[in-house]
Amino acid sequence: MRISKQVLLISLICILVTSAASSQEFSRQEVLHGKLTSMRSSFDVNSYEITLKVEPAKKFISGKNEIGFTCIKSIEKIQLDLNYRMGIDSILHENQRLSFVRDSNVFYVSFKRKLNKLESTKLTIYFSGKPREAIKAPWDGGFVWSHDTAGTPWVGLACEGIGASIWLPCKDHLSDEAEMMTMHLIVPENLVGVSNGKKIGEKNLGNSFKQYDWLVSNTINNYDITVNIGDYEHLHDIYKSNSFGNLNLDYYVLKTGIEKAAIHFQQVKKMHKSFEDHFGIYPFWNDGYKLVDAPFWGMEHQSCVAYGNNFENNKWGFDFIIIHESAHEWFGNSISCNDPAEMWIHESFTTYTETVFVEDVFGYQKAIQYIGEQKRLIKNKEPMIGKFGVYYHNFKDNDIYYKGAWMLQTMRTIINNDTLWFNSLRDYASKYRKQSVTTFQILKFFNERTGINWDNFFVQYLFYPALPVFEFKLIERENKLELLCRLKSDVKGLEMPIKVALSLSGFETVYVNSKWQSFDLNYLDPGEFKIKADLMLIGQKRMK
Ligand SMILES: [Zn+2]
Repeated sequence: MRISKQVLLISLICILVTSAASSQEFSRQEVLHGKLTSMRSSFDVNSYEITLKVEPAKKFISGKNEIGFTCIKSIEKIQLDLNYRMGIDSILHENQRLSFVRDSNVFYVSFKRKLNKLESTKLTIYFSGKPREAIKAPWDGGFVWSHDTAGTPWVGLACEGIGASIWLPCKDHLSDEAEMMTMHLIVPENLVGVSNGKKIGEKNLGNSFKQYDWLVSNTINNYDITVNIGDYEHLHDIYKSNSFGNLNLDYYVLKTGIEKAAIHFQQVKKMHKSFEDHFGIYPFWNDGYKLVDAPFWGMEHQSCVAYGNNFENNKWGFDFIIIHESAHEWFGNSISCNDPAEMWIHESFTTYTETVFVEDVFGYQKAIQYIGEQKRLIKNKEPMIGKFGVYYHNFKDNDIYYKGAWMLQTMRTIINNDTLWFNSLRDYASKYRKQSVTTFQILKFFNERTGINWDNFFVQYLFYPALPVFEFKLIERENKLELLCRLKSDVKGLEMPIKVALSLSGFETVYVNSKWQSFDLNYLDPGEFKIKADLMLIGQKRMK
């Protein structure tokens, strides 16, 4: 019974995914970038070792990426990605130059010999060019060539959504994260170059350039790989965890902001305490935690969070960029999705962490007000699950943020047991730590962990734009009031508990589904009838 239901659900999800993808035409490049073709799924990236020289005056970058990978089957040719603006100077494998064919934003590399199944090897790609410039980072993608108030170059990079291949030759698919990344960042000698992970060296190259070496010893999403270049000063602090010891907190801030940063970034420790309590150990402990002053609002770059919020708290008393972008270290960087269609896995949980943080630090009532303001931003115009197998801008509105957070809030309300809810969240963060997950795996996890079947709930909230609607009629009969109610939803069989006032003495929970049910409201006046659904995300409609 259980298995056949699961099979039915998988079939339903497959139908929804297929129909979603076929309803729109996509360009060949969007498909080449998004589809896991056999020339991409035939190998697994282990490491990227990047040498990158950045010349801000020329808006020019050059370097190489040594890609370590393992063959999943025998290989003669692979597909890699690099934006058409960037040139490929040469490709080397086993000291031999390889031939390659470019097709706009992708290129195909032919090996001199057949690589064997399970063989691990390395390929070096030399590249250079003027990369795409971001005009309104972080919402578009590319390099940000800016200057500080003294006129010194200040460079940032953001490429979530558009993908790292905007500047870096790589396998640009979310399903394949490198297990480690090294960055040798070469910048003009008067500037400081900051990248992800732990600093492992710096040296003057003697030609007016300086090299900074950074090591990430954890899996990392391509779009998290970043560089920040500026006239930075370095602040170091420590977060002392009761359970896990000391975590290095490193801040790279422009000289003009250093005094403000020293005070403002104190909230980072409060955040680490809250997130550690709720979601477990900071996932990239050995790489350290870092905030880097960026010439744009912010981005969740792993162990190198871009910060550009002018050291300002919001009206709730915290810095949104610090809390939201750092929360992605748990949800997005540690637990990642495999396809941009499932970005709700990154954003919904991260947006919900804001409410968890507010509740922890400022109390429950403030948290309810905080998430209440997010409710007004929900559009319900398109499903939270996007189109699979294509790389394009999937989401026009912000429902994967606010509706996603409210989907989780609704689950909390339905579970009606905060210990179970928070333990489930914590176990989710821990079970899938540093892994990629699918929507279906998350569903299965919450089904098992909470003992509630969320199948129909997940399908309705994620695959359909509309909310389920609590429809009701109030019928007066012989001085008595009768309630007729049902739940209208796209998915068949959805049942939800809703609190309704069946009498003046308070609310009772009724389980509503697609069938009309009748309840005696005794001697309530129609004006006294109430539904308590303020902590849920559902529609309400009084029918005639
Ligand atoms: Zn986010």
